[in-house]
This record gives sequence, C-alpha cells and structure tokens, in this order.
Amino acid sequence: MNKVCAIFGGSRGIGRAVAQLMAQKGYRLAIVARNLDVAQAAAGELGGNHLAFSCDVAKEHDVQNTFEEMEKHLGQVNFLVNAAGINRDSLLVRAKTEDMVSQLQTNLLGSMLTCKAAMRTMIQQQGGSIVNVGSIVGLKGNSGQSVYSATKGGLVGFSRALAKEVARKKIRVNVVAPGFVRTDMTKDLKEEQLKKNIPLGRFGEALEVAHAVVFLLESPYVTGHVLVVDGGLQLVM
Ligand code: NDP
Repeated sequence: MNKVCAIFGGSRGIGRAVAQLMAQKGYRLAIVARNLDVAQAAAGELGGNHLAFSCDVAKEHDVQNTFEEMEKHLGQVNFLVNAAGINRDSLLVRAKTEDMVSQLQTNLLGSMLTCKAAMRTMIQQQGGSIVNVGSIVGLKGNSGQSVYSATKGGLVGFSRALAKEVARKKIRVNVVAPGFVRTDMTKDLKEEQLKKNIPLGRFGEALEVAHAVVFLLESPYVTGHVLVVDGGLQLVM
C-alpha cells in the first residue's frame, strides 16, 4: 500500500500507538513531534519505510515546512492524525497566561494549522481523512482544566465545521475523545484514586484509543463524528 499517513504527536503515547497499528496495516508513516530523536526512535521501531520529522505544531512555518518535506520524501498525505497535545492543569485563578497560550497554540491552533496545510493536497486529490484527538473534558468540562477543556471543546467545533466545509471534496474529519489514558501525560495522576470513578474501573491503554482512531480514519461513510473512548466516564461526569 502506498497511502501516506502523517501522525503529529506520533512519537509517544496515543499517537505512537496509532503509528503501530497503521504500520501493521501497511501505510507509509510520517512520525512528527518536536523531539526528532524520540520521533526517529519511534519510526525506527516500526520497521519499514517510515520517516520522522521535527515540527512544533504551534508554529505555522514549521507546519508548512514539514508538509513540504513529507510530500517530498513520502508523497501526498492521504491521512492525518492530530495527537500532539499538552496540558498545564491549574485552577483558572492561578493559571499563567503563558500556559493558557501554549495550550491553545498546541492543542487547538496546531490542529487548525496541520488541517489547513493538509487541505491543499487533499482537495487536489479529492479525498482524505483526518482524526483530531480531543478529550472527554472538552465535552463535559473538568475542574482544574478549564483552559485545556476549552482547547478540546474548540477542537470539536472546529472539526465538525471543517467536516461540513470539505465533505463535498470527499474529505472526512472526525474526533476521538479519550478519557484517562495511561501515557506520559497522565503519569503523575493518582490512578488508584481516580479509577474508582470510572465505570470500567481502570485507565485506558493507548492502543485502545488508537483502535478508535484507525476505525475513524478508515470509515468511508463517517464524518463530523465524536467518538468517546473513556471506559464510561462520561456517564458519571
Ligand atoms: P503524550 O504526552 O504521551 O504525547 C504527546 C505527543 O505530542 C508527543 O509525541 C509529543 O512529542 C507531541 N507534542 C507535544 N507538543 C507538541 C508540539 N508543540 N508540536 C509537535 N508535537 C508535540 O500525550 P498523550 O499521548 O497522552 O496525548 C495525545 C493526545 O491525546 C493529546 O492531544 C492529549 O491532549 C489527548 N488526550 C490524552 C489523554 C490521556 O489521558 N493521556 C486523555 C484525553 C486526551 P514532543 O514532546 O517531542 O513534541
């Protein structure tokens, strides 16, 4: 298969798990993250003909350059996954403006920039599929995560609007909204305590979320959808 999938945030956590599944399916991958060494290690472990790229999604020129490089070395991007994300959890009254800005720039603006950069090729080739990784807190809200929740809620509005905008071009845009998933992002959380509130009684694994991402990437008749993967957490939030 020659289809190319770009995975922003593909070096660790959920993005890396998506990369593992997509590599098994025979896609050619671009593993993108700020830290090139980690991205290269992740790409190398997949075996095959995958490439790593360094890019800060918050920076427009970085994103543009990365798409140019990906297309030069791998060909046109058919699939895009936005799994790059950060959290700077804090009550709003204590939140630093720089932390608000960095979350907005990485989680929301970053996905807008990569989607925009992907559009040119996808419109040209009359097809493409995008999955943006949101969060259950973007739908339900969470105390101590107002800014992060806003970035993820915004991502849903953005993705649904874009899905309407480009459906005629046969480009699909969907969102996966995970609950607590065991990755670097959650390593400092008190899992023993938090899991009591999760109906399925545990944190999710990155691969369990990755299966949902791949499902949406490959579902030809699904667009504008938000797929919650949270062990039932939304039922009790
Ligand atoms: P990790 O911290 O494990 O991985 C984050 C990935 O994003 C890394 O590859 C990191 O690489 C990359 N990244 C971070 N900032 C940037 C940036 N500015 N530009 C490019 N790449 C960047 O996080 P998770 O896998 O847990 O999270 C993946 C997504 O899922 C995020 O959007 C997160 O908000 C969301 N999510 C996670 C949940 C969880 O419980 N883990 C729950 C709900 C949603 P590098 O640092 O080298 O740039």
